[in-house]
Amino acid sequence: MSSYDNQNIFAKILRGEIPCDKIYEDDYVLSFKDISPQAPSHILVIPKGPYKDINDFSKNANNEELIGFNRAISIIADQLKLSEESGGKGYRLISNAGSDSHQEVPHLHIHLLAGRKLGPMLIPEKS
Ligand code: AMP
Repeated sequence: MSSYDNQNIFAKILRGEIPCDKIYEDDYVLSFKDISPQAPSHILVIPKGPYKDINDFSKNANNEELIGFNRAISIIADQLKLSEESGGKGYRLISNAGSDSHQEVPHLHIHLLAGRKLGPMLIPEKS
């Protein structure tokens, strides 16, 4: 059973209690700029439903929500001209889930990163 903390910062953004730099919104998602960008384009995509991470979402969201969320990623990547199909050079998606992953905000979010060569996926562990 997953518990969702409705006082997390993205829940407050969804309720309009905290502002965001909005990129895109539809019935299923809200997308906005990350406040601390790690790449020239660093966008967050969050579902409107109360899901704490991708594990919770994949298991408990209904089909409409699952499809809406996935579709929104390509809509945003195309609109921002980041996808190769839209003339961009591609992008990386990251979604942290749980403490080992370094998830800080317990509302599902996909980081969409682009705008420079992003290098290898992970920094190697120090020996
Ligand atoms: P994670 O570590 O995967 O949970 O990522 C949380 C992300 O949320 C970080 O990249 C933060 O910079 C970003 N963040 C935190 N607060 C805000 C905010 N108010 N508006 C936009 N991005 C935020």
